[in-house]
Amino acid sequence: MNQTASTFIAKSTIKAADLDHRAKLNFNISRYNNTVPLGKQQFTDVHLARERAKNIKWRALESLDQYLEAFESNFTARGGKVIWAETADDALNEILKICESRQCKTLVKSKSMVTEEIHLNAFLQKHHIDSIETDLGEYIQQLDGEPPYHIVTPAMHKSKEDVAKLFYEKLDCPSGLSPEQLTLVAREKLRKKYVEAEVGVTGANFIIADTGSVAITENEGNARLSCAFPKTHIVITGIEKVIPSFTDLGLFWPLLATYGTGQTVTVYNSVVSGPRQPGESDGPEEMVVILLDNGRTNILNNERTRESLYCIRCGSCLNACPIYKNIGGHAYGTTYSGPIGSVITPHMRGLNDWKHLSYASSLCGNCTEVCAVKINLHELLLENRAEAVDTGYASWQEKIAWKAWKQASLRRKLMNTGSQRIKNWVVNKLFTGWTKHRADLHFPEKTFNELWKEKNNFTK
Ligand code: SF4
Repeated sequence: MNQTASTFIAKSTIKAADLDHRAKLNFNISRYNNTVPLGKQQFTDVHLARERAKNIKWRALESLDQYLEAFESNFTARGGKVIWAETADDALNEILKICESRQCKTLVKSKSMVTEEIHLNAFLQKHHIDSIETDLGEYIQQLDGEPPYHIVTPAMHKSKEDVAKLFYEKLDCPSGLSPEQLTLVAREKLRKKYVEAEVGVTGANFIIADTGSVAITENEGNARLSCAFPKTHIVITGIEKVIPSFTDLGLFWPLLATYGTGQTVTVYNSVVSGPRQPGESDGPEEMVVILLDNGRTNILNNERTRESLYCIRCGSCLNACPIYKNIGGHAYGTTYSGPIGSVITPHMRGLNDWKHLSYASSLCGNCTEVCAVKINLHELLLENRAEAVDTGYASWQEKIAWKAWKQASLRRKLMNTGSQRIKNWVVNKLFTGWTKHRADLHFPEKTFNELWKEKNNFTK
């Protein structure tokens, strides 16, 4: 077993037994369980809405090159600049170049999973640039020196008491503050930063091809401030975020809000189509969009798993996953956790090191059931497993065990040979990988043939 797999098993074993952690996660997820059904009521036919969204993403991804080029030409026509980054390092170096040219000391940043993916904060810190998270959940995580726990709710594993304690320890404020008071403390600290910052960085929920725009949706207004106050606005986004038309937002914005948090629509929805134009009184002087690949074209290249690029990062599959609810977001050791993380990470970061995540599933199908864009997540996990075996990444013990199982399953006589005790012993010795973290496999006392004969009163 490789290092990433053994770390995953060690961390998830500890978390699965942590009842306090489970209670906090269940409490936070239960709030979404209550609100998401209410949000869905805004759709006349929610299944049709999801199907349509999936079709639009299918169209966007099947002609990705054309839509991205359309975005680039429309965005640059309004004075924006597009940078194509193949790897995380390419993106980081481009951001550094821009920061250096602006003599940037302080950078404000809104919530963006792509910046987590490329480890932007750590990189900037190394180059003596203060990168401040302005989303409240991300700010809490940054104060605590932790990555986000969830795609939508970065501090999902913390109770309000945990946050009050953290603020007391790190921000020199009174202990035991209420959520409202804590929010005001964060607001007071962060407001100054928008004015100081030379550069603002945001992600993009969608990039719109026909208008050359970036759509950003959020509940706190911090993304809007991050892109409007500093003189330079950098957007960093995965290439899969493209949608063909501005009118598609009419479907995607409510869908994302409902499946993410149960809202009918998120509080602040911004469409940014370039830097400040002549005659406009506010907005950045310079706007750059970095289109990041970083392994996404590996997924695109794979016809079977391509649909995982339709993901709009609503986080719904995490909330529904019995594995995520037990082991939490950090045990995965990846930027993207839960079912979607288990599907895409092996392709983005290497099948050999990350294939174990495809087994972190009960295959109950709940993730597929709740996905905003109907991605067949549990089937994609099976695809990953098959691909890992086909490309030779299964261990020799596993290969032998499954060969033996296949031979026995194909020969009824062999299955009927030996007593229950012997069969239990053999199979549990053979499948040690299986039984290490599960109950032993258990054969019934009578074989299927014996039971069948009894049932039908057959005699020899
Ligand atoms: S895979 Fe589906 S449910 Fe999961 S985050 Fe993406 S869109 Fe949401």
